[in-house]
Amino acid sequence: MSMEKIVSLCKQRGFLFQSSEIYGGLQGFWDYGPLGVELKRNVKEAWWREMVNCHDDMSTLPGAPSPFAMEGLDCTIIMHPQVWKCSGHYDLFHDYMVDCKETKKRYRHDQLNGRWVEAKGRKAFITAPAGDDEVELIQKHALKHFNLRNKNIDDLVYDGDVMCLTEVEDLSQVVGPETKKIGTLTEPREFNLMFKTYVGALSGEEGTAFLRPETAQGIFVNFKNVLDSTRNRLPLGIAQIGKSFRNEITPRNFTFRSREFEQMEVEFFCHPDQSQDWYKFWRDRRLAWYHAYGISEGRLIMREHHKEELAHYSIGTADIEYAFPFMAEGEYGELEGIAHRGDFDLRSHMEGKLDEKTDPLELQLGEDGKPKWKGSGKDLSYRDDLSGEKYIPHVIEPSAGADRATLAFICEAYCEDEQPDENGKMQSRTVMKFHPRLAPIKAAVFPLVKKDGMPEVAKQIYLDLKKRFKVFYDEKGAIGRRYRRQDETGTPYCITVDGQTLEDQTVTIRDRDTLEQQRIKIDEIAAVIQQRLDQ
Ligand code: ATP
Repeated sequence: MSMEKIVSLCKQRGFLFQSSEIYGGLQGFWDYGPLGVELKRNVKEAWWREMVNCHDDMSTLPGAPSPFAMEGLDCTIIMHPQVWKCSGHYDLFHDYMVDCKETKKRYRHDQLNGRWVEAKGRKAFITAPAGDDEVELIQKHALKHFNLRNKNIDDLVYDGDVMCLTEVEDLSQVVGPETKKIGTLTEPREFNLMFKTYVGALSGEEGTAFLRPETAQGIFVNFKNVLDSTRNRLPLGIAQIGKSFRNEITPRNFTFRSREFEQMEVEFFCHPDQSQDWYKFWRDRRLAWYHAYGISEGRLIMREHHKEELAHYSIGTADIEYAFPFMAEGEYGELEGIAHRGDFDLRSHMEGKLDEKTDPLELQLGEDGKPKWKGSGKDLSYRDDLSGEKYIPHVIEPSAGADRATLAFICEAYCEDEQPDENGKMQSRTVMKFHPRLAPIKAAVFPLVKKDGMPEVAKQIYLDLKKRFKVFYDEKGAIGRRYRRQDETGTPYCITVDGQTLEDQTVTIRDRDTLEQQRIKIDEIAAVIQQRLDQ
C-alpha cells in the first residue's frame, strides 16, 4: 500500500485538501472535504457512542472492575492562562529546535540525524532529516560538502553509525541538511508549542492567552462542576471531543502531525487503590475499539512506555500505535496514549504547579517560600457519601487523536483488487473497505437505466432513505462504472432499481466487499441497511 496513492485518492475524491491551497497551502493545516467530513464525524460519533452513551453496556466491557459513570463536556479552546501554568504546559511544553543561519530553515533538534564523515583530511558531522532515506541523503550530502563526485564515493570514511544530532555536543562541526557549509546550525533553543493570542483590546502581555494544546485541562478544571451537577459517584469518566493546537516545528506525514487537530479524550476519575485495575481496563478497551472498527491485528500494537520515557507525573503510560504506510518497516505511529496520571492534575489545579525534577508531590516554591504558580485554591478532592472517605482521585486518561484515527481508518481501508464486471471481464478497482458504520456514504441508489420509469422509483427510494442515512443518487454512466465509483468512496451498499422492480417492487442490494447481490423489497431497504450497520 503506497502513501502517495492514498494521498492522491484523498484529494481526488474529496476526503482531504491542503488548507488554503489556492494560496500555496499552509503547512500543518488540513481541510476535510465532503467525504472526509462525513468519515471523521462517523469516527467521532463511534467513539462518543461507545465511550459515553453506551459506556455501561456490560456485554462490551469484559474486565470492568465495577460499574462506572460517564458524562460529556464541551469546553472552550481559550481558557484562563493560569490553567496552562498549573498544568505545566507554560513551562514544560516545548521542543528543542535548531536554526540554520544560512538557509533560515528550522529543525527539531531530535529529528536530525547524522554521521561523522572524514575526507580530504577534514572531518564533519553531516546531517539529514531522520527517515527511511537518511543514510542515502547523508552520503549525497557528504559528497557535496567535501566537493567530491559520485565516482569518488570511496574517499568518504565514516566514523561510527548514524546517530541523532542530540548526541553531538559541539555543533560547530555540524553541516546542516540543506547547506554545504559547516557550523551554520545554532545551539538548540526551547520553543513552546502553544499558540499565543490576545484576549480583549489589550495586545500587551496582560491580555496573553493560549489556544489549548490538549482538551484534557478543560475536563480537570470542570471536574467538580460535573460531579456536583450530575450527582454521580466515582468512578466517573468525563469525555470531550474538540480542537487542539500545537505549533509543531516539523508538521509532516499528511494529517499525522498537524498544527490544528482534534482530540477525543476521557479523564477517568477513580479511587487510588483501584487505579491500576482501571488503567488495565482502559488499555484493553481502547485497543478493542480500533479492532472493532476494522484495524487489523497485525498493524496495531500496544506499547508500554519504559520508565525513562514516562512523563514526570505518570505512573504508567501505554501507546496504541499503527503501522502507517509512511513509517519505516517495523515502525509504528501513535494513535492514542493511555496514561495513568495519578493525582497530578487535580492536585496542581488545587495547589499550584508541581516541580518536574524532584518529587512530583512537592510544590515548586518561589523565593517567598510560596508555590510559584498558585493553583485555584479550590478543593478538588472527593468525599464518598457512603464510606465518608475523602481523597484526591487518581486519573486514567485515554487520549486519542480524531485525525490520526481517521487517517489510520483511511490507510487500513485502501485496497486494490480485481473483480469481474457485468460482462464477466476482470476489472481492477480501488475500494475503500471502511467499516460500514464509519463509511461516509452508507448507500447509493441507482436506476439501472435512465428510462422506463426507473429513475422516478430510484429517486423516491433515495428521498426516503435520505431521512435516515447519508445516501447518494447516481444515474450517470454504465452501472459497472457507477458501482466502481462508489467502491472508491467506500459506500458499503448499492441499491439498484431494474426492470423487475417495476413488476414486483423489489430492488437489488449489492455488498461492496463480497459483491453479493440480494433481492429485497423496497419497503425493507431501510431496515436491511440498519440491520447491517448494527451488526
Ligand atoms: P507525539 O509524540 O506524536 O507528538 P504526543 O505523545 O505528544 O504525540 P499526546 O499529547 O499524548 O500526543 O496527545 C494525544 C493524542 O493526540 C495523540 O495520541 C495523537 O493521536 C493526537 N495528537 C497529538 N499531537 C498531534 C498532532 N500534532 N497532530 C495530530 N494529532 C496529534
